[in-house]
Amino acid sequence: MIGTSKYEGGKKYCRRCEIYFLHDGSFCPCCGMKLRLSPTGKKDRERLRQIRSLEQLTEIHERQNNKGAISKLATSPTTSSSFTPPS
Ligand SMILES: [Zn+2]
Repeated sequence: MIGTSKYEGGKKYCRRCEIYFLHDGSFCPCCGMKLRLSPTGKKDRERLRQIRSLEQLTEIHERQNNKGAISKLATSPTTSSSFTPPS
């Protein structure tokens, strides 16, 4: 099973697909990007999570700055990929 939310048991993470693989090779079977090895310490996991949420916040913030009226994105970031801006 792929797509679980934490590093464990030698899983590797694809940054592009944003999923975890239990996979022998060093490259993502979906997109071919080099996979990250699982970090060993809890500290690394925490840091990774912080970086990722920071990236998400920054992205949302920039969109708000660019498009003004789209405050909806801030409360539902998971739907932002299907969002179509008004013409
Ligand atoms: Zn991938």
